[in-house]
Amino acid sequence: MNLILMGLPGAGKGTQAEKISEKYNIPHISTGDMFRLAIKEGTDLGKKAKEFMDQGDLVPDEVTIGIVEERLRKDDCQNGFLLDGFPRTIAQAEALQTLLANMNEEIDYALHVNVPEEQLVKRLTGRRICPTCGATYHVMYNPPKEEGICDKDGTELIQREDDKPETVRTRLDVNIKQSKPLLDYYQEKGYLVTVNGDKEISVVFQDIQAELEK
Ligand SMILES: [Zn+2]
Repeated sequence: MNLILMGLPGAGKGTQAEKISEKYNIPHISTGDMFRLAIKEGTDLGKKAKEFMDQGDLVPDEVTIGIVEERLRKDDCQNGFLLDGFPRTIAQAEALQTLLANMNEEIDYALHVNVPEEQLVKRLTGRRICPTCGATYHVMYNPPKEEGICDKDGTELIQREDDKPETVRTRLDVNIKQSKPLLDYYQEKGYLVTVNGDKEISVVFQDIQAELEK
């Protein structure tokens, strides 16, 4: 089962990724983890990637795709893989196609967890933080006992700049623009499967399983 996982911030991708990984016995490979591993192992590509990252530069595609290849050739990918956060562009998607073809593999599905933007705004703006002890809450999913007040020390909770509606909307809009060509690309190739992510976690996972086992 070779899968690519797609979805906007707040769509619950991480939670579903864990469930998919466990159920189908395939590793959940996020871009961040992949880079960290390559750097930790000190591979040539890992070293190259680190140089770019240390300078605050984007890691070029040829380095990234090399790191993806190293990761996909590891033993734990024998049953397949779940790629999360890669590819991000059409160029990367095409490089992945070539890489997989060289490995006599191909993508089975590009799984898109879809949640309406307004719902994502609700999810992403709900976080509240205690400036005293650092405890985090969510107005919908993990509210404090008394609204706006930390359970532990009674401090008034705050909303971080990153979680304010304007910032969240801007971040989502950038993500929507970036992911649209990729969704179209996988749609055209016939890999795209879209699941409604605006449901209970367990129901979304049932829907995903139904799609993957069709
Ligand atoms: Zn507190």
